[in-house]
Amino acid sequence: MPPGIDIQPGTGFVTDFSGLPQWHAPIRWAIIQLTNFANTNTGNHDMNDKRVYSFADGDGHNKKLLGGKGANLCEMTQIGINVPPGFVITTEACLDYLKENRLPAGLMDAVQEEISRLEDATGKTFGRGDDPLLVSVRSGSALSMPGMMDTILNLGLNEATLAGLIQQTGDERFAYDAYRRFIQLFGKVALGIEDEHFDEHFEEVKQRAGVKADVSLEASHLREISQKFLSVVRRESGQDFPQDVMLQLQLAVEAVFRSWMGRRAVDYRREFHITPDMANGTAVNICTMVFGNMGDDCATGVGFTRNPGTGDNEMFGEYLTNAQGEDVVAGIRTPKPLQNMKDEMPQQYAELVALRNTLESHYQEVQDYEFTIEKGTLYCLQTRNGKMNAAATVKTSVDMFDEKLISKEQALLRIEPELLEQLLHPSLDPASTVEPIATGLPASPGAASGKCVFDADLAEKLGKIGDKVILVREETRPEDIHGFFAAEGILTSRGGKTSHAAVVARGMGKPCVAGAEGIIVDVGLRQAHVGEHILHEGDVITLDGATGMVYFGAIPTIAPHFSEDLETVLRWADEAADLKVMANADTPDAARKAREYGAMGIGLCRTERMFNASDRLPIVIDMILANNEADRKEALGRLMPIQRADFVELFTVMSPHPVTVRLLDPPMHEFLPTEQQLLEQIDTLRLYRDVVRGRQTALATFVTPPELPKPFDELSEELVNDALIKKERMLKKVRELQEVNPMLGHRGVRLGIAYPEIYAMQIQAILEATVECANNGLSVRPEIMVPQVITAQELAKVRATVDELTEQLEKDFGKQLRFKFGTMIETVRACTRARQLAAHAEFFSFGTNDLTQAVFSFSREDAENKFLPMYNESEILQDNPFEVLDIQGVGQLVDMAVYRGREQRKDLKIGICGEQGGHPNSIRFCHHVGLDYVSCSGPRVPIARLAAAKAKLSEKEFVDVRS
Ligand code: PEP
Ligand code: MG
Repeated sequence: MPPGIDIQPGTGFVTDFSGLPQWHAPIRWAIIQLTNFANTNTGNHDMNDKRVYSFADGDGHNKKLLGGKGANLCEMTQIGINVPPGFVITTEACLDYLKENRLPAGLMDAVQEEISRLEDATGKTFGRGDDPLLVSVRSGSALSMPGMMDTILNLGLNEATLAGLIQQTGDERFAYDAYRRFIQLFGKVALGIEDEHFDEHFEEVKQRAGVKADVSLEASHLREISQKFLSVVRRESGQDFPQDVMLQLQLAVEAVFRSWMGRRAVDYRREFHITPDMANGTAVNICTMVFGNMGDDCATGVGFTRNPGTGDNEMFGEYLTNAQGEDVVAGIRTPKPLQNMKDEMPQQYAELVALRNTLESHYQEVQDYEFTIEKGTLYCLQTRNGKMNAAATVKTSVDMFDEKLISKEQALLRIEPELLEQLLHPSLDPASTVEPIATGLPASPGAASGKCVFDADLAEKLGKIGDKVILVREETRPEDIHGFFAAEGILTSRGGKTSHAAVVARGMGKPCVAGAEGIIVDVGLRQAHVGEHILHEGDVITLDGATGMVYFGAIPTIAPHFSEDLETVLRWADEAADLKVMANADTPDAARKAREYGAMGIGLCRTERMFNASDRLPIVIDMILANNEADRKEALGRLMPIQRADFVELFTVMSPHPVTVRLLDPPMHEFLPTEQQLLEQIDTLRLYRDVVRGRQTALATFVTPPELPKPFDELSEELVNDALIKKERMLKKVRELQEVNPMLGHRGVRLGIAYPEIYAMQIQAILEATVECANNGLSVRPEIMVPQVITAQELAKVRATVDELTEQLEKDFGKQLRFKFGTMIETVRACTRARQLAAHAEFFSFGTNDLTQAVFSFSREDAENKFLPMYNESEILQDNPFEVLDIQGVGQLVDMAVYRGREQRKDLKIGICGEQGGHPNSIRFCHHVGLDYVSCSGPRVPIARLAAAKAKLSEKEFVDVRS
């Protein structure tokens, strides 16, 4: 014992070191010091804080403290499900550890106490005896992050307990199998030794033994493998494998805590926007090991209480007899469908059906569970809410409501609005006659084409430069996660529907074909053999995750269609929501699609997009180039009937719903070529003119070529090339650095004031289209919207034009025209002057695209192309404010404008039509501040409808983050 350290028996596990001469001195010394420090320094830590809960005591609802897995293990234990005894170390302990870089004081004492309880409960002994207690050490945070953090199994094995295990089971093969698994997992997770160092020996023994499957290895092989693994640990870590089981446990707990900050976990949280208020730190679950690999009356498997691909109410899952859980998840052996168990293990199958029913009725949610059968006894090792694709989630909502398992509100609340995006993805055109080159399991639906790549790093690299890629692997591992993010789809040649690739792809809504055994991946040669074909890296392939087919080349896709279940859910959503959902649509075609998505009107029709069509642009250019009012009016006169016809069609498609038409907004120069383009065109034309002129005179005057001036003699092609390359590089940089500042000039209503005849033409076209539709017997509800307003005087001026034209038309028409007049609120000043604006406007629509640019004082283009990703990564800004409404900044102005506007006009109709209007988080805020509608692009309408319902149903839980 080092001098000056006085550890009392019973104050910590350190006393156990005395019997471990082979544990390397430096590490042992460091641990003793740390533990001594921990035992004598409490710092700010409250010694009374409970950091460890047994499964029998933990609060099953406190996922923040116990993690989702831990809380569910407690809950299951307490409702009588057969869970192996165990305990949970809390997420708070993890945070303490990460902060102080050492375990909280007294933690290992509490762990020791719980271990003693496990010994009492199981009759086994930890670290000694011939019936040794082995435990699993698993991570588990408040939100499920499958495979992102670390787990260790069979902890508690050492040379002594190994002998005990052999004696107790009489099964040497089983004991060595458990030992070699433990050494590898512990080596990897706790000591940081790469898998390949172990795999290399494993494969070598397997090859020498002439076996293909791991189960064919005999005890002597596994003993040899274990010995080799021990030497790998010695070689790679410079230490002997730790024999003290409490030290094993401490190192494992610390490793799991550290894995919270590992790259995989951090990437995953960033990608899925998991913030500390949602999940902070991981708990550690320590659970008595039960074995599915002790013989043919043992099995292990995973199940879903319903089919996660289709939502069908049936037993779903896979199992392997005589195997350990990791074999199923890693896809090392191909598992069997649960249905086979009915014949193979009828009694356990019946128990499994009962378990499934209990889980679903207790949690009122589809569950994804893991089980093990040890010598005929069924244990449930974990349960969590099942991640399903969108179609299955929607179907199970409708089914579970019909089965009276959940209420309509629960049915809506359990669906993440963004998930519906998957249903809007294309699938393969069934008319395509291309033959597949391989078939695997349909592991996650959807179709995707892309260049095949054989590792996650390259997938990420190519994805970043905008290439569409398909990640092709033999099997995937959690460390491939960055490749998943970048890939359009995932293809594996091994593993089942519950393999890592399948689970992660489903969670991300990306297509996945798993276990396509006909594909032999050779990462070294960057190619794969598929029958007689060779697939080179970079070749384009297509996956159909719904059928499991793989094709060469890019196959055409077709748009998805709404299922009856989705229609039902969205109808419920519309009934529940306060907010209406409109679409931003500029053409009759887009309007028709928006109706199919369930839009309740058009919240923004950008009329300038009508101007850009090829039959109108020349007229628009004539109008812009006109030097006087008369010429401008002549061009507008030609444009008017075209605009009117556009509006008639649009109003007809949307009848009887409102259509908000925005008067011309962009500055005139947007309809003309850029200065640079014009200069180039002019140069080219001048050159042509000179060539034509020169040709005519050259023939007559040419005698001999003139001599070049002196400096030209010294010019070589090389020199010119060098200079050109430098200039070209500079040009590229200059272009990259160019800024696109927000357009703040002569646009919007200011154009309408400078050239009143433009707005007059548009207003007349809208009103005449209204009359025409009314004459056709249609009920139409146009809304005239003025953009970029800063002052009430602007609105008053446009309103005067509207009134004048209306008066005239009503006289001719003989009836009153029904329409609304309103303004966009997209300048900061408009927000501050909302009260005055509302005196003239019957509605407001927040243009949060421009308002966001104005509030942040940068343009979307500059921000997104230059610094926003870096700002998001370093968490200076949490989201992209052009996608998700910036509640803290822009939201304050929105709130103020709503308040002031309604102070002036109680029934002021208010909506939002910036892109943020289609984002669920923004929608929650819009509901909270009392908007009447949101308007977004057509395909986001279903997402917004569901989000609007959820905003209403969960309004009490709304957390206002404005301050
Ligand atoms: C806005 O500014 O939010 C808006 C909808 O207008 P645009 O995007 O056309 O500028
Ligand atoms: Mg705008």
